[in-house]
Amino acid sequence: MGIYESLGVRRVINSDARLTRLGGSKMPDVVLDAMREAADRYVDMHELQTAVGQRLAKLTNNDAAYATTGAAAGIVLATLASLNGGDLRQIARGLEGHLPERRRVLIQRAHRIPYDVVVRLAGAEIVEIGNALQTFDWELEGALNDSVAMVLWVAGAHLQRGALPLRETVAIARRHGVPVVVDAAAQLPPVESLWHFTRDQGADAAIFSGGKELRGPQASGMVVGKAEFLAAIAANGSPNQRLGRPMKVGKEEMIGLLAAVERYLQLDHAAALATLEAGVGRWVERFANRPGVMVEREFPDEAGQPTPRIRIAFNKRITGLTGPEAQRRLWEDDPRVQVALGGPDAISLSLSTLDGDDEEIVANRIAELLPRG
Ligand SMILES: *Cc1c(COP(=O)(O)O)cnc(C)c1O
Repeated sequence: MGIYESLGVRRVINSDARLTRLGGSKMPDVVLDAMREAADRYVDMHELQTAVGQRLAKLTNNDAAYATTGAAAGIVLATLASLNGGDLRQIARGLEGHLPERRRVLIQRAHRIPYDVVVRLAGAEIVEIGNALQTFDWELEGALNDSVAMVLWVAGAHLQRGALPLRETVAIARRHGVPVVVDAAAQLPPVESLWHFTRDQGADAAIFSGGKELRGPQASGMVVGKAEFLAAIAANGSPNQRLGRPMKVGKEEMIGLLAAVERYLQLDHAAALATLEAGVGRWVERFANRPGVMVEREFPDEAGQPTPRIRIAFNKRITGLTGPEAQRRLWEDDPRVQVALGGPDAISLSLSTLDGDDEEIVANRIAELLPRG
């Protein structure tokens, strides 16, 4: 009996996305092998964190990098770095060490996401600029004063309608000496995201999850960017006994993340995309003649990434299904099948999270929901 079965925890076939709630991603052997090797030795963690950072920086075409326990941890550390600049005297005073008049983090309203709450963990206050539909340069200008420590700019094609572009945000913030940090947690692919926001667009730092598309350890991530800013992050982070210590990165996570980034950079991304497109074609063909369903290619995906997905819409009168009802029935069975909602009448599926016979199982389970045709 497997470990999960012995606990009575059902298998999940994930056709949704690389979600933390479903365990992130599955680690490839090269990542697991690297972690196993890393686990078997003592090492100076300061030395390791520095060396891993240097290697990650080189691989991602950045000045510097820092391995974290995830993107959310990266946001907290980047906020701390913005608040205290890595100054040990300020760090020594803890949250009270932040200059009280300089505690604000600006976020465009169109960029508000569930993860940004962690900014508050660093003792900062979130101040929104703009409205849900648009942000203008003068709104950023108007909000930038001595009370602002950082601008958090959230990447993703789905969040940019009417938003102030990164390049403009950086140009304006720089004039006021305020760092711009990009949350790019789920912005892979394309692989160029690793250097696009920082090297090409001038942000001080960009934050990535290690446990999503990179398929590194679930509790890993990284911040890449300017050397001075990354040094301030390191000053706040583990293994130092400072505010970043609860987000401690193990040697296994650091080495696993590094192996995952190395692997990701060597992948044939064009071939992977072609495989996904072929898969979408298979689905469209398979369900083309089933009454009451419409299967189509969805692009870009839910995080605005250039990855095709499958959208299956149901005619309720013929199939008796709504999107939520289909989603619920797929989830409640054994093994659980997780799909995303594609609207009130539809579900949305990823193929990139499936392997082995997963695709066949998912397709059969969906076919079983439909009236015999
Ligand atoms: C997933 C995600 C995070 C959190 O990433 P973790 O690595 O799970 O901490 C933060 N921001 C965005 C936009 C995300 O998609």
